[in-house]
Amino acid sequence: MRVASGARMKHVSSMTASLSGPGYTIVKNAALEGRNTFRVAARAEMLIDVNKPGALAEVLAFPFVRSQPLLLLGGGSNLLFTRDWPGVVLCVAAHGVRIVEDRGGSALVRAEAGENWNDLVHWSLGRGFAGLENLALIPGHVGAAPIQNIGAYGREVREFIATVEAWDRQANALVRLDNSACAFAYRDSLFKRDPQRYIITAVEFLLPRGAELRIDYAGIGDELQRMGVAATPQTVAEAVAHLRTRKLPNPALIGNAGSFFKNPIVAAEQAAELRREHPALPAWPGGSGGIKLSAAWLIEAAGFKGAREGDAGVSAQHALVLVNHGRATGAQIWELACKVRDGVARLFGVTLEAEPIIV
Ligand SMILES: Cc1cc2nc3c(=O)[nH]c(=O)nc-3n(C[C@H](O)[C@H](O)[C@H](O)COP(=O)(O)OP(=O)(O)OC[C@H]3O[C@@H](n4cnc5c(N)ncnc54)[C@H](O)[C@@H]3O)c2cc1C
Repeated sequence: MRVASGARMKHVSSMTASLSGPGYTIVKNAALEGRNTFRVAARAEMLIDVNKPGALAEVLAFPFVRSQPLLLLGGGSNLLFTRDWPGVVLCVAAHGVRIVEDRGGSALVRAEAGENWNDLVHWSLGRGFAGLENLALIPGHVGAAPIQNIGAYGREVREFIATVEAWDRQANALVRLDNSACAFAYRDSLFKRDPQRYIITAVEFLLPRGAELRIDYAGIGDELQRMGVAATPQTVAEAVAHLRTRKLPNPALIGNAGSFFKNPIVAAEQAAELRREHPALPAWPGGSGGIKLSAAWLIEAAGFKGAREGDAGVSAQHALVLVNHGRATGAQIWELACKVRDGVARLFGVTLEAEPIIV
């Protein structure tokens, strides 16, 4: 392997070689089991962590990076490795959060891509900002939040993103995309649709002081009552954290990537027909006249909740979550996911789409 000038060899063994330079580290033949929340085994020909924003351009110019397939990795909480990665896995790991411009009633806040998402939520709440409270406790890095426009409890991150800063591999330059250029949609964005083009380096959020709280969604109001507190951004974040901890399997205890399928959006006529046959099927407006159906309900009604094949399983706690009970491979989890998808399609005529990136 050719190494850029300035990089130095830290450790070499027959299996792995690790190198570092100013602002980055490189590990050859790297194990990724500890870098994905499914905790499935996979290897990357090369794993590069870029810890300083200025080092990215240098790393991308290395001939071995330019000639290899590139996979971006954050906290690994929204992807499933079904195979080894035959190229470079790159993690933009730089940290930092700061107020760029204080406008009184709101402020522009910049967070580097490697910041932990939940830390940013609590940083913002601690400084009197509102807006991100419903998105508390979502795992992962700030740089991945725009990719699928993370959302939970009635909010989506696009409501607060002003600008995404990214390295454009086509233009070979750092670019700034405003909110509309990111083409956000339900669990989707420009970045998800064109994964080889943009490497997100930082996100700027426009955060209000005192936004309208959204507490009418999925039990937040009841949880606040149980806690015996008034609704504030801080208490809503706490209520959301309680609800998530109760409802979702903890990836620290059992490998998973949260919801494995998106809630499907179908035509209004199909939704009406399904709801005539299954009045309990939850449904909401899905935008552009479509109706969003509960994927969890469809999976449970198709009999898959708690299903297990070897160590690959559908959580018995939440039908939307696929889990690794121990030593499942990513391919086995994907095989089970396909059975769930096909079973739901057979019974209800609805096609479920995976939410995580399948590698
Ligand atoms: C228990 C649990 C609960 C979850 N709950 C929710 C939820 O409520 N709502 C929700 O929306 N999601 C949820 N998720 C999914 C996940 O946490 C989010 O999608 C999160 O934003 C992924 O962040 P990450 O850093 O782990 O990204 P990764 O999984 O590492 O990557 C996800 C995608 O982003 C790309 N990517 C990562 N970093 C960059 C970058 N810097 N530039 C360009 N591309 C990049 C990757 O290539 C990949 O395609 C949950 C996951 C778990 C495990």
